[in-house]
Amino acid sequence: MLVQKKETDLKELVENLNFREKVDRSLSLIDEAYSKYGERLVVADSLGKDSVAVWDLAKRVSPKIRGFIVTTRFKPKETIEFMNETVARYPELKIYRNDIEIQDELYKTDPDKCCDLLKVLPTRQAIEEMNVECWVTGLRCTEGRTRTDFREVEERDEGLIKLNPILIWKEREVWQYLALYGVKVNPLYSLGYRSLGCLPCTHITTAEDERAGRWIGTSKCGGECGIHTRPLKGEKKRKA
Ligand code: SF4
Repeated sequence: MLVQKKETDLKELVENLNFREKVDRSLSLIDEAYSKYGERLVVADSLGKDSVAVWDLAKRVSPKIRGFIVTTRFKPKETIEFMNETVARYPELKIYRNDIEIQDELYKTDPDKCCDLLKVLPTRQAIEEMNVECWVTGLRCTEGRTRTDFREVEERDEGLIKLNPILIWKEREVWQYLALYGVKVNPLYSLGYRSLGCLPCTHITTAEDERAGRWIGTSKCGGECGIHTRPLKGEKKRKA
């Protein structure tokens, strides 16, 4: 199918396609993948603005598309309330959470380990239990320094296609979509957050980088929790 050729110039697409063309492209990507993978296509919904846009796009392709949410004990109460409202409306979204005992303030001493235990492991579990062959994310290449090296369709783990249907959208276009289609968002955005995560690792900043408020004061600052960078379908099978 649709594994994208490396030479595709993402920057050109980011700058040269207009809003309507980007929406149509995203719908086509999801539609094409859904035709191929059917119920084995599953949306990963982080409950952030990008994810809710992708979830809305997916529902326009087919109301039957399923999804999963990975939550942690450290999510802000607003996010938990938003999650509960979302799942009440869409019971086809399954919640995953790792309640394993961890060291106090592990997010300060070893945030990589904390994310690995609380985010990456439940994501792996979701992918396995939901029998996923194609997972759909809200990743965008203009979001920050760690997000420039992705493609719209990738196979980072053998046997697991990753579809990033809004990879070429700008932050402004996400808000444009959410406003135009009346999609509800996490109320934390109204306080000034631009990227949402767990409470101790998410801050409001005025920095240009959209993810600059994540993991401030650690080596992970502005970085990734690991679900987009760590293997999700077994270390041995991971492609270089
Ligand atoms: S974002 Fe912070 S609290 Fe949440 S899992 Fe990662 S390190 Fe732990």
